[in-house]
Amino acid sequence: MIYDIIIVGAGPAGLTAALYAKRANKNVLILEGKTYGGQIINTPNIVNYPGIPSISGFDYATNLYNQVLNFGVQIVFEPVLRVEENRTVVTNKNSYQGKTIIIATGAENRKLNLPNEDKLVGKGVSYCAVCDGNFFKDKVVAVNGGGNTALEDAIYLSNIASKLYLIHRRKQFRGDDRYLEEILTKPNIEILYDSSIISLNGDDHLTSIDVKNVSGELINLPIDALFIAIGQTPKNEIFQNIVDLDQNGYIMSPDGVHTKAEKIYVAGDCRAKDLRQLTTAVADGSIAATVAMKEMED
Ligand code: NAP
Repeated sequence: MIYDIIIVGAGPAGLTAALYAKRANKNVLILEGKTYGGQIINTPNIVNYPGIPSISGFDYATNLYNQVLNFGVQIVFEPVLRVEENRTVVTNKNSYQGKTIIIATGAENRKLNLPNEDKLVGKGVSYCAVCDGNFFKDKVVAVNGGGNTALEDAIYLSNIASKLYLIHRRKQFRGDDRYLEEILTKPNIEILYDSSIISLNGDDHLTSIDVKNVSGELINLPIDALFIAIGQTPKNEIFQNIVDLDQNGYIMSPDGVHTKAEKIYVAGDCRAKDLRQLTTAVADGSIAATVAMKEMED
């Protein structure tokens, strides 16, 4: 069987592409290696999506996923291993053939790359405040990062934990002032500026972290959990045989939708772009599906 469109990735961009294609009666397959929703599933509260004043990332992603399922889109949970130029998509179990392909694989959490990090994930080290925050009620926790995710996570966790250290490697935060203003009103949040985490300590569970500031001072912070919120990196290595990646690993596209491979398109956070937001991901998905449908019989 040859699908009209195979979409790789079930985040907001991929799901939106599927919605548009299925509404136009196309034969659509989504391949996803993990779970639906992508990064947005970790956002406690989305307040900047037009027309929806407030919704959790999980609820948003679940609504979109169900919307797509109700339209009859086929979603197969198999990790994609590679895509060939003739638009064959190879997973760990099968091969699928598409007339067109949309790559919408998003990005994943950036790691600190410290020695104990992988070992302590789920044992005090987390990349998702909404998923794991409740395990640390009345405990001492830290958030690392200076973007909107870190600021939002700090606000969210400060309502659960007894004490929270917000650790950022610079003096200025990258995230919005409105979040910082709220943080400054929270008596249980202590900000450590100009500071980097240099080690994660603990065998069976995180017990403390060592933090070094720009003056070279070293402090040991006993904490129960560390939430790492230092941005995302793409996972596009599997496509580098067919598309061009920029120096950060994002898929390059001259117009934001085409790749250098014929009838293979890109949408969402996995492509090189200036603004990675929910709004731009769903916009990308709708455009990619529309262009793919227009060009599929050429
Ligand atoms: P981000 O904006 O890329 O911020 C990452 C932060 O982590 C930066 O402050 C960066 O420090 C720091 N960092 C990066 N690598 C580090 C390392 N190795 N060690 C220590 N710190 C490191 O990522 P994000 O906060 O996840 O946000 C991603 C995008 O989603 C942004 O566009 C953001 O605005 C958006 N977002 C929006 C909302 C919302 O509007 N409600 C919520 C969440 C996310 P430097 O500042 O020094 O580079």
